[in-house]
Amino acid sequence: MSRQEEERLNAEGILNDNEREEEGVNFIEEIIREDLKNGKNDGRVHTRFPPEPNGYLHIGHAKAICIDFGMAEKYGGLCNLRFDDTNPTKEDTEYVESIKRDIRWLGFDWGDRLYYASDYFDKMYEYAVQLIKKGKAYVCDLSAEEIKEYRGTLTEPGKESPYRNRSVEENLDLFERMKNGEFPEGSKVLRAKIDMASGNINMRDPVLYRIQYATHHRTGDKWCIYPMYDYAHPIEDALEGITHSLCTLEFADHRPLYEWVLDNVDYSKDAKGRPRQIEFARLNLTYTVMSKRKLKTLVEEGYVRGWDDPRMPTISGLRRRGYTPEAIRDFCERIGVARRDSIVDIALLEHCVRDDLNKRAPRAMVVLNPLKVVIKNYPEGQVEWLETENNPEMPEMGVRKIPFSREIYIEREDFMEDPPKKFFRLKPGGEVRLKSAYIIRCEEVVKDPETGEIIELICTYDPESKSGGANAGRKVKGTLHWVDAAHAVPCEVRLYERLFTVPDPDNDEDGRSFTEKINPDSLKVLTGCLAEINLKGAKTEDRFQFLRHGYFCVDPDSTEEILVFNRIVSLKDTWAKMKNKA
Ligand code: ATP
Ligand code: MG
Repeated sequence: MSRQEEERLNAEGILNDNEREEEGVNFIEEIIREDLKNGKNDGRVHTRFPPEPNGYLHIGHAKAICIDFGMAEKYGGLCNLRFDDTNPTKEDTEYVESIKRDIRWLGFDWGDRLYYASDYFDKMYEYAVQLIKKGKAYVCDLSAEEIKEYRGTLTEPGKESPYRNRSVEENLDLFERMKNGEFPEGSKVLRAKIDMASGNINMRDPVLYRIQYATHHRTGDKWCIYPMYDYAHPIEDALEGITHSLCTLEFADHRPLYEWVLDNVDYSKDAKGRPRQIEFARLNLTYTVMSKRKLKTLVEEGYVRGWDDPRMPTISGLRRRGYTPEAIRDFCERIGVARRDSIVDIALLEHCVRDDLNKRAPRAMVVLNPLKVVIKNYPEGQVEWLETENNPEMPEMGVRKIPFSREIYIEREDFMEDPPKKFFRLKPGGEVRLKSAYIIRCEEVVKDPETGEIIELICTYDPESKSGGANAGRKVKGTLHWVDAAHAVPCEVRLYERLFTVPDPDNDEDGRSFTEKINPDSLKVLTGCLAEINLKGAKTEDRFQFLRHGYFCVDPDSTEEILVFNRIVSLKDTWAKMKNKA
């Protein structure tokens, strides 16, 4: 972005970092500051990020990670990584590893505080027995459907289970036998005894434990009863000494249950302090689905090439696409933290990526659809190494040499035989400047005699028009990127469009599922592209700005013979443009 552009965006309050710094204390920080002022939790700030290892992390999780780790960092506290592995059937160590990798890549560190909900299964069992002894929990034989029926609705109270008044002894005996595997799956659950008439459905005797004969990725076959999230989470938080348990808004209705568990379980000998749950709005992005279930569908039904497909909003997809952790963190900062759900324009995310890459991506010349140009007055066999800047925005990134000789390639679309008036690229008899090289003139168009397709241009060059020459300052309307034929590096370029054709693919009010809104043209593969010699040896995740084409990143599919590039974003900044109009 140019200085001017930046000033303009600043003036509109889009980029004003200073201002954000001054007033940008979000409501979570207000709570943390208040707690610190009052000496609550002995002045500690301790958060956690609690992913369920049942899928890959996505950009929404990045927001949660930035908040959880970011708050701890900012207020001198700690943030734990805790895998919420209370559901044995859906979890996988593949996901555990990918989640760890993604958090590290984003630039956050949990130190030695890596925990699993399953670390606390013994404690949770002990506390459940405690609840039974206090008459606060009971074993219920209703089926899942019956429990649902008995639960009531938003407008009608629920009905008490016929098993609600079992004696403490009977409950203790049954719960132990549940644990010992004496009952079939689904035949019994442990429920909290709270209030079937509560206005909050979550408080109508919620299930605390269910029977599941599944091998757990960490505890194996030790358990056949597993705690429910709402029971497990406050206990995990308490045992880890979490002070501020930050989560998304859908848990707001569960907060009374979180509090109930902390009120009724006596964990004082195992932990001190009491965690507090605070909810913030989830991130929703236009043209994007974020639910893990839907992302899984995209992968499993082959709509994309995998969890790390560059079109996926997963962290691994964004990484492969070429997004930088800095850009993602900047995005999370700019969207802020609010209590109301909203949808963020994906153009803002792309804007953050451009903004970051503009400053650090070296420039390169790559021709996507090559057209050969022979410069007939250039000496045969001669090669010159011309100098060009690596990044005009960042002079400190220096210069590089690019070869120039008699045969080069330009972009096919940069030549028109019969152009409209305002076409400032190459045309018969016309002149253009080749970037960081000479001015050439098109003298002759060579066509395939059979098909009539243009296969080559014969040009002449002005030997005095390069930098330092007598005609260096001579002005022509167009400047083209090009690559030298003899030194060109073959590559494949993958261009991406949005994965969905509509801004709200989650919305199924029109009766069409999200998979019916997939953009059939979201991936376009260009083969036979040619890159300048300096890209030879580029490594996975190396990023460049290809002049006039956008930002690109080396894909791991690259081989010795052929480099594969993903387009990260084009150069057209729709976000800045939109804000400009507004
Ligand atoms: P899904 O509902 O898609 O399965 P999830 O929310 O259940 O995802 P978890 O692994 O439980 O996924 O999420 C870990 C943490 O990330 C939770 O604290 C959750 O609130 C937060 N999180 C998940 N999705 C988003 C989002 N879109 N925006 C912000 N935070 C999110
Ligand atoms: Mg969840």
